[in-house]
Amino acid sequence: MTFKRSKRPSVRSQNNAKWHRELKQWWATEVGIEYCEVRFSVCVGSFGGALAHSKKRRFILTREDYFEVCYACVECHRVLDQEMSHYEMEVTVKGIIEKRNG
Ligand SMILES: [Zn+2]
Repeated sequence: MTFKRSKRPSVRSQNNAKWHRELKQWWATEVGIEYCEVRFSVCVGSFGGALAHSKKRRFILTREDYFEVCYACVECHRVLDQEMSHYEMEVTVKGIIEKRNG
């Protein structure tokens, strides 16, 4: 039995494209952080920096989930993504956001 993949983008991917633009805009104008917030021992500062979501992409269902991000350098991003469990990643990113918001 085979499954045909729909060519039509899903509602979620349409949302993600819109949210992606809004997130970039919000980060640039309201947050403005361009230095790694994660600061693991492997941290390389602002090198290769990008926004890291608290949840894996397939678990991001709402705009609120999508905007739950921190700025991570390439090395910290790799640790979050590949060496941590989903739960650890979420707790870490949420903790960083709480500290930022003071
Ligand atoms: Zn880092």
